[in-house]
This record gives sequence, C-alpha cells and structure tokens, in this order.
Amino acid sequence: MTHQREEMLPTVDAANQNHEALDAAARVPSAADLETLSRQLNRPVRDVVEIGARCVCGNPLVATTAPRLSSGIPFPTTYYLTHPVITAAVSRLEAAGVMNEMNAELGQDAELAAAYARAHDQYLAVRDAIGERSGTGAVPEIAGVSAGGMPTRVKCLHVLAGHSLAAGPGVNPLGDRALEAIAEWWTKDRCYCAGAWDTEGQAPSQDRSRHVKTQSVDPAIKQAQRAAARAAREAAANDPAAGSTEKPTA
Ligand SMILES: [Zn+2]
Repeated sequence: MTHQREEMLPTVDAANQNHEALDAAARVPSAADLETLSRQLNRPVRDVVEIGARCVCGNPLVATTAPRLSSGIPFPTTYYLTHPVITAAVSRLEAAGVMNEMNAELGQDAELAAAYARAHDQYLAVRDAIGERSGTGAVPEIAGVSAGGMPTRVKCLHVLAGHSLAAGPGVNPLGDRALEAIAEWWTKDRCYCAGAWDTEGQAPSQDRSRHVKTQSVDPAIKQAQRAAARAAREAAANDPAAGSTEKPTA
C-alpha cells in the first residue's frame, strides 16, 4: 500500500523523522499531568505514556498513547488532543466543512499531497520510536497504518492538529493549517487553561496509566507482567462470559 509513495519519496527527511516539539524530559508525564488529562477529558486516561505537547503554562495539550494498549490491543492513534479549548475549536473547523476542502485540495495539489504523505511517514517513524521507548516494541498489526486519514485523506482534524502540536510546525501541512485556522480561539503562545476544565473535586478516576503503574519497576518484572496479562487475555478470549467492555481509547 505504501510502496508507490516510497518510490516517489525515496527518503524521509532524517531530521524530520524523529522531530518532536518537546524534549525527552518534558514528555515524561507527571502524576499531576495524568490527573489534568483525566480532568480535560472528563474520563479516566489509560495507557498514556508521554505528553505530546504542552501549553505555555506546562499543562498537557496532547496525550501520547503507546502503539499497543496494556490490554494488548494495537492502537494506531498516537497523539490525542486533550485540551478542551483546542478540541472544541477543531470541531468547529470540522463542522464548517474544512475536511472536504482539504480532501479536494489533496486531489489537486501534488506538492501538498506529497508533503502530507511525508507527514504519514513521519508519524509512523515517531510511533515506532514511542513504541520502543514505552516498551511495547513493534506492532506489526498496524504497520503502515497511521491515523486521521493519512496518507491520502483527511478524516479527523483533531488527529492532524494533535500531530502538528507534537511534531512542531513544518511536519504535517494540514495539521499546521488546522492550527492556523483556529487562531481566533487558540494560539500556542498563550495559555487558555483557566476555566477550560473542572479543577474542583476529585479527578474522574484513579490513575490507571501504564506509565505510573510500571514507572519504577524492573524491566524483567514488567516483561513477566506482560506475559501474565497476555495469558490472562488468551484465557478470557476462550471464555465468552469474560468478554471485556473496554474501549480502545486514550
Ligand atoms: Zn495553560
């Protein structure tokens, strides 16, 4: 599926390939970050392994999910937009038909289409790196599959905007454009956090993030835990009464 494009674009820009807006230290989610995420989304967050982008005040804008959930499910959508102000603004663009315009343009503008295809390649490369860092390793089930409609369509602007925030400008042309188009509601140079989510009372869940659960655990123990979880899943798969109601979301 990707062969033709790779012939057209023999190399992914090596500098771009691992381009991420935050450095390694800033990507590490603190307990406070995870609580903020659950408040922003008004639901428990799971399997968040990093913070993909931050507000100028430090609050998370984008949650980064490993390419395989702790439940074992392959998860192609690495970056999830969590800041309610940005999410709502991007929803307005979608409601206004911006995706149709972008899809039409992708069909007519070869240069844009090529840049968008490179964004897809970069997304996959960074996701592989995140899989390595978070310990999930390669996820062959979703090899070559990115998100948001990439590499040839636009199906979710939130995904593209999240990618642009995490990668920084110049990587995803349509994500960049979505961020420019929401400038009347959100810009990256200002904090829009005040009042954007409920900061009173208890956060929507106890924290069940993989990161926190295993943060200080020996890798060998982690591996054993994963093997045990896998065995439990296989057992559950053979027992229809034990079917999970979990949804594969961030
Ligand atoms: Zn802020």
